[in-house]
Amino acid sequence: MRAGQYAGHDAVVSKGWWAAHKWLLLRRVSQLGILGLFLLGPWFGVWIVEGSLASSLTLEWLPLTDPYLLLQMLLSGGRPMQVAWIGAAIVVVFYLLVGGRAYCAWVCPVNIITDAAAWLNRRLGFKSTANFSRSTRYWILALTLLLALLTGSLAWELVNPVSSVYRALVFGIGSAWLLLVALFLFDAFVSRRGWCGHLCPVGAFYSLLGKASVVRISAVARARCNDCMDCFEVCPEPQVIRPALKGEASGAGPLILSPNCTNCGRCIDVCSKDVFRIDTRFNNSTNNQFLHKTEVAP
Ligand code: SF4
Ligand code: SF4
Repeated sequence: MRAGQYAGHDAVVSKGWWAAHKWLLLRRVSQLGILGLFLLGPWFGVWIVEGSLASSLTLEWLPLTDPYLLLQMLLSGGRPMQVAWIGAAIVVVFYLLVGGRAYCAWVCPVNIITDAAAWLNRRLGFKSTANFSRSTRYWILALTLLLALLTGSLAWELVNPVSSVYRALVFGIGSAWLLLVALFLFDAFVSRRGWCGHLCPVGAFYSLLGKASVVRISAVARARCNDCMDCFEVCPEPQVIRPALKGEASGAGPLILSPNCTNCGRCIDVCSKDVFRIDTRFNNSTNNQFLHKTEVAP
């Protein structure tokens, strides 16, 4: 990214606007489409999906249960029904395959709010005043589980922003909206990417779930990198990129192996050199046709 340009400018020039925004647009369609399915029932009486992101039944046939919620239920002394176990098993298998934090990029509606806050933060050039360790989210995750155990209730779910989006849209003005506005202001003006990148226990849970996931982003053509830094600028978890992109000298493969990569594909969008692609974890060889910059057309 050169001075005065936005991240992705070069990609728009070289690939065109659609190719430079493809994964971002597909994610928004996915996030809004899923949210829309949940709202069709309460808003219009069309019950394709019943329930919420925490626990749902699609077409009166497909149960889906948030495994993090199931864990809290178990710790609080609840006895989940068989259908909840089946729903959780389906969700676990799905995210073991596609990457745990694909939930954050492709499903979670809060991501739209935090992405908007990050965009505003970048445009205004606001410096973060609060920095949290990235491990804070795992401590908060442990705390929410401990809270369920000690209180015998799903205490975290009362304030969970992910559930709050649904509550805010179904029940209208209320504390859920205030919470979401506070989250936006926090990310925009206090801590850039603060919520999803450092604090959210839901994201922490799904990152643990996706540790060994099959689908991965690969910096397969890293030899083409021209150090414009656009991918680092737009990535919600920029620390995950460097080992794959710059690790060739130390023998590291091109796969992004950190469980905190959300598989959002934004790095693919904004890279004018087409360094990144979606790949599988079985393809981490340092031997590929892109090893030498001289092989690449200018
Ligand atoms: S980190 Fe939490 S709030 Fe952010 S996208 Fe993931 S689940 Fe949603
Ligand atoms: S590395 Fe790429 S796919 Fe992973 S979180 Fe960052 S921008 Fe998204």
